[in-house]
Amino acid sequence: MPETEKPEQERPASPWAFQVAVVAGIPVRLHITFLLFLVWIGWTGQSQSGWQWPIYVLAVFFCVVLHEFGHALTAKKYGIKTTNITLYPIGGVAMLESRPTAKQELWVTIMGPAVNVVIAGLLYLYMWISPQQFQLTSDIRVGGILPALFFTNISLALFNLIPAFPMDGGRILRAALSLRLGELRATRIAAGVGQVVAIGLGVAGIITSQVILMLIAFFVFLVAGQELTSTVTRSLLAGRKVRDAMMRNFATLPHGTTLQEASELLIAGSQTDFPVTSGSDVLGILERSELSIGLTEDGPHAYVAGRMNRNANRCRPDDDLEWAAEQFAAAGRRPVLVMEGDDLVGMLTQENLSEFIMLQDAASRRKKPG
Ligand SMILES: [Zn+2]
Repeated sequence: MPETEKPEQERPASPWAFQVAVVAGIPVRLHITFLLFLVWIGWTGQSQSGWQWPIYVLAVFFCVVLHEFGHALTAKKYGIKTTNITLYPIGGVAMLESRPTAKQELWVTIMGPAVNVVIAGLLYLYMWISPQQFQLTSDIRVGGILPALFFTNISLALFNLIPAFPMDGGRILRAALSLRLGELRATRIAAGVGQVVAIGLGVAGIITSQVILMLIAFFVFLVAGQELTSTVTRSLLAGRKVRDAMMRNFATLPHGTTLQEASELLIAGSQTDFPVTSGSDVLGILERSELSIGLTEDGPHAYVAGRMNRNANRCRPDDDLEWAAEQFAAAGRRPVLVMEGDDLVGMLTQENLSEFIMLQDAASRRKKPG
């Protein structure tokens, strides 16, 4: 179904998916839920259409894999690697290593549904020239596997062209709009359209009491929001440095400070995480959560040095803010020390990063005069 462009190197590979093949240098993986799904399919479908059913289901997923290769091989043409293709019960996902430009994304995305259209065309051609008489019906018990597969590929193409993230249609819409309006506005519009479509799907699901449709609608609604947030955040941070967003005014604690003294400081101001120092050296950070645990377990007279995080992440003021924010998120959003050589010059925290994004967002929405 969708292709996604989150770089996966920093994140651990999902332990719930395992590799079944490598095609054109791209690992193809099955997610564990996909196997459960196959068992369920076998269980429910067997009685309906006998031996044809499992073959049909495998053929459908083969078509889904080909669809994903439509994305992956087009990306490869632009020099973008695909980390892996993973099959989930709801479809496949091709994980691209880097972000394509809008024009590239347009083609990379279109080539997925295009594969299903080509497969449907070939099946139709075969059934047309074959001496055997095929009845063109999606009912596998009446027409057999090939006509059913023909209709399934048409549905796969149409379903994926629904203009909502994470469907291909949503990406095509975004990419096409990006060419004229820029990525940020394009994503805002595409995500809005996606959420309207999701509500429509949800209402249709309720009216026809189709649970699957309701689930898809809910999923689409959620992903549209996420896509919007991550794109907006990325574009607001792009080109900025850590020094633009870092917190500059903060208190530090000498390592001999007691937890009692630290908690008084926590109450007195809005700062929640405190760098711990020894002379001019920075030893670590005392985080609010650790302070509270320390008060319970060690008592108020224990020293902050016993509860500080000695392995706090560090970065430099000239580091790329987008990169630093990714590292920050990957490390569980714990406060980061900004060091210029041996000097502590700032901190990056969840609060001040959110504030920075909020202010940038507000500025970006302001209509330009004239
Ligand atoms: Zn797709």
